[in-house]
Amino acid sequence: MGEEIREVLTKLSETLGISEKDVKKHLGRSIRLMKYRGLEYAVFRRELLGYREGTVILLGEEPLIVHGYPSIQRLAFIEGVKKHMIDKVVVEEKMNGYNVRTIYYEGEVYAITRGGYICPYTTSRIRKLYGKNIEFINKEYGNYVLVGEVVGTENPYVIYDYPEARGFDYFVFDIMDGDRLLPLKIKKEISEKYSIKTVRELAIIDKDDISTLKQVINKLEKEKREGVVLKDPEHRVPPLKYTTIYINIKDIEEGMKHPFDEGRSYLFSRIIRLIAQGYEYNWNDDELNRIALKLGKAILEPAIKSLKKRAEGKIIASSYVLVFPSKQDLEEFIEFMEALGVDFITKIIEERKEEVIVELMKLKETHGIYSKMLETGYSPLD
Ligand code: ATP
Ligand code: MG
Repeated sequence: MGEEIREVLTKLSETLGISEKDVKKHLGRSIRLMKYRGLEYAVFRRELLGYREGTVILLGEEPLIVHGYPSIQRLAFIEGVKKHMIDKVVVEEKMNGYNVRTIYYEGEVYAITRGGYICPYTTSRIRKLYGKNIEFINKEYGNYVLVGEVVGTENPYVIYDYPEARGFDYFVFDIMDGDRLLPLKIKKEISEKYSIKTVRELAIIDKDDISTLKQVINKLEKEKREGVVLKDPEHRVPPLKYTTIYINIKDIEEGMKHPFDEGRSYLFSRIIRLIAQGYEYNWNDDELNRIALKLGKAILEPAIKSLKKRAEGKIIASSYVLVFPSKQDLEEFIEFMEALGVDFITKIIEERKEEVIVELMKLKETHGIYSKMLETGYSPLD
């Protein structure tokens, strides 16, 4: 056994308080070893030993556990908030991007995705934007983990345009100390002191004040925003999420560009959300007709378009534009995607001194299935 792997085993066994033999049992399956630049780290690919999925152990000189961000329960009905909160409720905007934990560790800032991977792209962009701020937060507060949403159009995961995000930006929504979510006033204090952006606080309401909450959500509906996360000011009870009709349909429309990829998994869950909304809002015939037409189009139109595209010989893939601070960051990102087993192609569009602009295409299952459909004339499902 190599010296390096022995050291990793020892560190993991000491950090987790289990034998090296037990560590070995989990390696490669539930726990995956990864490396970013000089830093080795272990990823929990599922809940294990009392740690959440997405928990990471950074294996530097002094190993550090970065806990996974908890899953948030979804409300079917806005009214449901009454049943779960204590008294006051902070209504935060739910932003549509991807979950990123940031931490300053042994001299560098790292950006960790929901699944527990240090994303080289996200890390490079966040270091450039907020590296110093996050370092100073660490100097004052120690190993607090910032948890936020990366949003905008320049990322490899979720593209959604926010005017306030200038292509790529990071909005913090919680701060974690170990596995604990800290009171929201600490987030406020830290973000103001160190110029970190946060998601918008839309209102603070009494848990029974459903009419104010509905007003807030109706406004988001008009502004084509994703929804809300409802939080106890001190996180004494777990938060709740609720999304707009607009985004529920929009997700379907996006997903159905690739029916055999995202389409398949999005469809039923979003329809259930709309069913609850139709009931709670008591849609009349006109509203039902309007929304049903939107939903129907969201299901069919993008899927038919993609099929036409495939018939014309084009590739069915999702495409992203990424802006890397350096060529090295690009190479590290490519290695990372390969390690994750993503099927993709990259193309450099433009190369400047401190900017490499790249097109990333993620190939879809839908490509092959549509090809076969067109070739054989058979339907892929009965
Ligand atoms: P979950 O995270 O609940 O397991 P999921 O991965 O499908 O489910 P979403 O349905 O998008 O994620 O809802 C939860 C996520 O919403 C959080 O993990 C976080 O990334 C994102 N989010 C956006 N804004 C906020 C906010 N203000 N507070 C908490 N989370 C937020
Ligand atoms: Mg999300």
